[in-house]
Amino acid sequence: MAASEFQLIRDYFSACGRRPDVLLGVGDDCALLHPPAGMDLALTTDTLVEGVHFFPNADPAGLGHKSLAVSLSDLAAMGAEPAWVTLALTLPDSDLRWLDGFSRGFATLADESGVQLVGGDTTRGPRSVTVQALGFCPCGQALTRAGARPGDQIYVTGTLGDAGLALLAAQGRPMSSAWLSGIRLRLDRPTPRVSAGLVLRGLARAAIDVSDGLTADLGHVLTASGVGARLDLARLPMSEPVSHYVAETGDWSVPLSAGDDYELCCALPSEVSDEVPRLAARMGCAFTWIGQIESEPGLRCWLPDGTQLVCVPQGFDHFAPSAQ
Ligand code: ADP
Ligand code: MG
Repeated sequence: MAASEFQLIRDYFSACGRRPDVLLGVGDDCALLHPPAGMDLALTTDTLVEGVHFFPNADPAGLGHKSLAVSLSDLAAMGAEPAWVTLALTLPDSDLRWLDGFSRGFATLADESGVQLVGGDTTRGPRSVTVQALGFCPCGQALTRAGARPGDQIYVTGTLGDAGLALLAAQGRPMSSAWLSGIRLRLDRPTPRVSAGLVLRGLARAAIDVSDGLTADLGHVLTASGVGARLDLARLPMSEPVSHYVAETGDWSVPLSAGDDYELCCALPSEVSDEVPRLAARMGCAFTWIGQIESEPGLRCWLPDGTQLVCVPQGFDHFAPSAQ
């Protein structure tokens, strides 16, 4: 069944979240928003393109969740409290079943995260989803990629590599069925580490979300901070399926560079280490020491057997010749 552009905006996207600081939401030429005094606004935009970021047959509710989750993950990495989002949708048709699933997945995470959808755009064309998210940080307190110093401890939330392993399974790698649904959930419905970002605010010297793989994203922190690091791979937090995969294949690329994890990686001053168990309890997820910032530039990854893994901190580049 088809619907007009205005009908579908009204039916699916006009009542997603409710906040008192939204003076005017979906329906006018602009949204009118009332940011609190004393706060900096953090703003991020992400686009997911069919065939590049999601499979053409992707479950619409999962896609609704993920398209919001990736933007909330960016806010989390800055230590920002999520508030408002906009949604630009390009769709090949007005498939109501797809819209119903997508908007439910989006709205469920929006409600859980306390954000309101305040506007967007709806156009026809090859399917893509662009989400812009805005959040608040007390003035001057946002966590950036710059600021890590030699001696700082490197920590990461959750576990690494589950989404990458799920992608390998989707591409045909045989996988125990007991593990499949758990890792697939990590790929399709990532959990943005919003509370971890808020806990780290005022404590971490630098932070980033791991969307392109740990080595690539930590590499951005090292470059922005003008430092290097060592990683102790024996300490990497991995789920049972990922540990099993690494033990069986010796391939560390899944936890180190596969991407789509949406965990947070940060540099904490060593004075804070005593507080880590208390911080982890407030975050509601694992928070694991994985290495240390050093003054020598570059990233040195040490394998459990004491030898060094040569790793090039490189993430996915949409314009690299191999990606076209
Ligand atoms: P305009 O032509 O002024 O850009 P539109 O017809 O594009 O207006 O949009 C009408 C209203 O619906 C605006 O408030 C816009 O922000 C909102 N809107 C459009 N598409 C979406 C969407 N996918 N999700 C949320 N709000 C949307
Ligand atoms: Mg418009």
